[in-house]
Amino acid sequence: MDPSVRSRRPLPAALVLVLSAVLALLVAPAGAAHAYDTSASACALQGTTGYTDEGQQTDHTRFQDPLGTKHIGLIYVDFPDAAGTALPLTSYYDTLKGAEDWMRNASYGRTALDIQVPYANWVRMPKASTDYAWERGFSWTTHQVYVEDALTAAANAGVDLSQYDMFYVVPTATATAIGHSPTFIQDPAAPTWVWNPRTGSWVLIHWAVTFGQDMWTWGYKVADHETSHTFGLPDLYAFSGDLNRYVGGWDVMGDISGPAPLYFGWEAWKFGWITDSQVSCLDTANTYTTTLTGLEYGGTGYRLAVIRTSATTAYVAESRKAAYNDSNACATGVVIYKVDTSATTGNGPIQLVTNPDAAAPTGSCTALDMQTWQPGQWFQDDSAQVRIYVSASDASTDTVWTYKW
Ligand SMILES: [Zn+2]
Repeated sequence: MDPSVRSRRPLPAALVLVLSAVLALLVAPAGAAHAYDTSASACALQGTTGYTDEGQQTDHTRFQDPLGTKHIGLIYVDFPDAAGTALPLTSYYDTLKGAEDWMRNASYGRTALDIQVPYANWVRMPKASTDYAWERGFSWTTHQVYVEDALTAAANAGVDLSQYDMFYVVPTATATAIGHSPTFIQDPAAPTWVWNPRTGSWVLIHWAVTFGQDMWTWGYKVADHETSHTFGLPDLYAFSGDLNRYVGGWDVMGDISGPAPLYFGWEAWKFGWITDSQVSCLDTANTYTTTLTGLEYGGTGYRLAVIRTSATTAYVAESRKAAYNDSNACATGVVIYKVDTSATTGNGPIQLVTNPDAAAPTGSCTALDMQTWQPGQWFQDDSAQVRIYVSASDASTDTVWTYKW
């Protein structure tokens, strides 16, 4: 926690009454535009990293629009040194197919992953699995070669590459050299063209998730995590030091196996899953009261209370409940976090604000998994001159007062 940031005891009851009378006169601003690209909200901070970040604007020369149905061609690959396992390949498909329902729930039905298997057999890669230099941090160009090889082999086996927005490339379990599951994102300066015999034309490859053996450990949510990179999201886990120190298990981009893996509402806004009209934006000295609907539920209510603190930073409060994708959440209530759209992937673009009065962790929950705020608790950052006070809570909502002075 920032040393300038500390929590305070609840307001005296008399002051609460005065404030609630004042707050009743205030109306949070509303707009109807999608948050991404065209948001009219003063809180829709733009990214400055030039790549995946928490900026609300998405560069569509690199990343795909999250809205709508994404047709995904799942391609099974094996290698001269690692022959494919026996058919059928249902255990592979079954390990990943849950990504569809999970994404549908996370997006309130606005994003559909349509995973298709156009060729239910192995396609043979031209090089040995050990010749693809498959290690973390390998170059984009090395990755591009693997994607080109896989999709060329698929096209030569009869797959019509032109039918898909993106690809999932799944290696045989015998290819132990293919360990982790990176995402291939197009570079407009180095387009990836693959010859497609079915149409007698070149097909431009935009995005692919190239799975590794860690898919068997993570399960289908690794597909949701990786696909989200093609929508422009950064990693929320730390690339160095304690992996889970920024957000614990609160977002699938932070911990694929976390207890509350639903995307932070800030990201749902970036994706256009929630709109400006569901965001209470405080960017000047003022006070708003906002009843936030649990992020897990659909509907039109408010989802985010944002206090802008600079052109690239904001505090965000949202309501999280143990339902749907978050049914295993360790704690419920208001989650407060700091967004920094100038922070690069893996370097803390979102960081939870910790609550000194949060409940102690139990079972497999970590301390960060417990960082929710309950009625009567408040957070204040003196240097940013902001305060977030939780005033009420019920089964599906939390009400917060946001202050800026
Ligand atoms: Zn990632």
